[in-house]
Amino acid sequence: MPTEVQIQEAKQFISLRVEAEISSKDNIERYMIEAARKIIAVSQKYNIPPRLFRFSSNESLKEEVDNIIRELKDNIIYATETLSVYDREEDKDSILSFLNAIRYGKTFKQRVNEYVNRYKFELEAAIAAGIFLGKTGKDTLSVIKRSLSAPYNNPDIKESFGKGLSATRIETKGISYGVGKSNSAYNLITTLSRNDIGLAWMWWYGEQALKNGATGFYSFRGSSYPCALCDDMTGFHPIQDYKYKWHVNCRCYFVFV
Ligand SMILES: [Zn+2]
Repeated sequence: MPTEVQIQEAKQFISLRVEAEISSKDNIERYMIEAARKIIAVSQKYNIPPRLFRFSSNESLKEEVDNIIRELKDNIIYATETLSVYDREEDKDSILSFLNAIRYGKTFKQRVNEYVNRYKFELEAAIAAGIFLGKTGKDTLSVIKRSLSAPYNNPDIKESFGKGLSATRIETKGISYGVGKSNSAYNLITTLSRNDIGLAWMWWYGEQALKNGATGFYSFRGSSYPCALCDDMTGFHPIQDYKYKWHVNCRCYFVFV
């Protein structure tokens, strides 16, 4: 049976992991807002007629935007990699190869690429609407900030639907998100980063236990959040049942024996 000391250590590992996840989320939010600020500024330089505004309507605008978008992708990858490795420099290579492995058909970097491209179209719609409505860059940025989790609830965009604007996501009236908010680029990217940092930490944790000859582990509930799966999983498991986390956002903690 695990000792009280082992239990405390296991708990502490999870709370440090969650801090790393939150730190990544905060960094990514700052990077996304900074990218929006830069893209608003370049968009205003080109004096494109509001109804025709698209990043692709001018070749140099498109290039400037793509560079900012590329930088954003790199920053998101860097934040996630750095916080996945944390202070385990000696295991950096193996942690990064775990992080960048294919999961459910795609790599972490492929998903970042996909979600940041989605963000680009969210920004295009918000900026086109702002220009069309005669808003300042500052106002457009502040409404983008407020709408990160639900970009097509942006009042400027709503007001611009059906007015003949050519911005891709205005022409198509946004993306139909159903009832949830889970599909905004911001939610997708921050959830991905947090989840993959969590997985990398828990993978590394299991690797250390294996090196130390563990043959099994005890699972404990790490939060009071009602979860039938985690309730079912409390108690002893053979080592081959170790799955890093029982599900996304799982805070169960494990003591290896
Ligand atoms: Zn659970």
